[in-house]
Amino acid sequence: MPTCPRCQATLEATALQCPRCQLILKAHGHPGIPLHRAEVGDTLCPTCRYHADDSCNFPQRPQAQTCTLYRLLQDEAMDDLTPTRRETLGRWLRRYQGLGAILALVLVSLMLVLLQR
Ligand code: SF4
Ligand SMILES: [Zn+2]
Repeated sequence: MPTCPRCQATLEATALQCPRCQLILKAHGHPGIPLHRAEVGDTLCPTCRYHADDSCNFPQRPQAQTCTLYRLLQDEAMDDLTPTRRETLGRWLRRYQGLGAILALVLVSLMLVLLQR
């Protein structure tokens, strides 16, 4: 269960606002838009990937204390570690290449039988 960053009250995952301290938790009153919030006296931008790659054009940059688009710099590193579909398929094929060879043999045999009819 998530907790309120201000008063640590336990929250519903879809809560728009903290029921205890009324802190706004989601942007634009929509449960699917998280509102990222910096610690008191801090700003989000120095640790945001969109600040690092200079692609952000929000007016509150570089002093944003709340932001809907904030993305932690380290997330980019995690993206690099996440295997792509092609890598996953390649790994699967290497692991099960024996099974793949048998399946290919069965398919070729089946095709030969069908062609002889
Ligand atoms: S997306 Fe938000 S947190 Fe990131 S640099 Fe822009 S204003 Fe700052
Ligand atoms: Zn609260």
